[in-house]
Amino acid sequence: MPQQSGQADFPLQVSGLNKRFGQHAVLKDLALEVQPGAIHGLVGLNGSGKTTTLECLLGLQHADAGDIRLLGLRPDQLHQSHGDVVAIFDSPSLPPQLTVRQALEHASLLCENPVRKPADVEALLGISQYRDFRIRNLSLGNRRRASIAHALMGSPRFVLLDEPFNGLDAGGVDDVLALIRDLNRDEGTAFLLSSHQLPYLEKICSHFSILHEGKIALSDSLDRLLGQQVNRLQVICDDVVRACALVQDMAGVVIEENSGNGRLTLQLNGVTPAAVNQRLVSKGIAVDELVRERSSLSSLFQSITAQRSDTPAEDAA
Ligand code: ADP
Repeated sequence: MPQQSGQADFPLQVSGLNKRFGQHAVLKDLALEVQPGAIHGLVGLNGSGKTTTLECLLGLQHADAGDIRLLGLRPDQLHQSHGDVVAIFDSPSLPPQLTVRQALEHASLLCENPVRKPADVEALLGISQYRDFRIRNLSLGNRRRASIAHALMGSPRFVLLDEPFNGLDAGGVDDVLALIRDLNRDEGTAFLLSSHQLPYLEKICSHFSILHEGKIALSDSLDRLLGQQVNRLQVICDDVVRACALVQDMAGVVIEENSGNGRLTLQLNGVTPAAVNQRLVSKGIAVDELVRERSSLSSLFQSITAQRSDTPAEDAA
């Protein structure tokens, strides 16, 4: 199998990826890496280039430049992956005239090494009761479940999913999240999930990359990304002026804003809200409320994508 030493263990390694449509440079020197065993979320504003990135990775779009390796293989070598790499795009595209069961049996015939039976993947995806329905008669959510079932007939090592939650109801989202988690835990399957639905991704992704202005603006494990964020605390009390004076010499506390209307915003670095509360109360300040702003992927995402954009990304995720 043509691969460079060390690269085959990495589900994905991309460097210098460039793609333009006419005058519009969508991807500019993009670099991206998915670690073995990771569930990696690729997030970005609508129109930021997530689908284009996935299409270039799979050779569905011709990249203008860049080195792309999936399990050590270039896009034009992916036929050699023997089902180790599978991708499911936003618009599920199974043959509309086949029933669910026929589509899965077809996949089983094509699959070099089917490790699951059609009935098993139907049960896994909660579509057993639809097995005799034609694909064209399924709801979008059930078509998506059938597409995922179709891709899981073998035992892929790396799965790329473009907007996997679109069209799913809450139960469907939970089923797909559970499936991804189980496959990752039990079989070590690595995932690259492209989505704008950050709250869902935050539930399962171990790593994130934020695509902005044609590049990966930030990429790391979720723990490290959130750990880098400043923790904020809003203090609502009866004497903000005195409260300011009391907290300003506490190590690890920075006064971010004194709104003058009984509300003080602090940045905390290694200091707990309880310690701030104790300091204030012990000096006779009546603390009405402490509001902790928890670090979240959404706030990090917003802080990055709010920076002025020259590229025509369409709207906020
Ligand atoms: P995302 O998946 O993040 O929503 P896309 O990759 O679909 O973004 O699109 C990125 C940009 O590239 C958008 O501005 C889109 O209009 C443009 N684009 C995508 N495909 C084509 C194409 N085939 N021809 C011209 N422009 C395209």
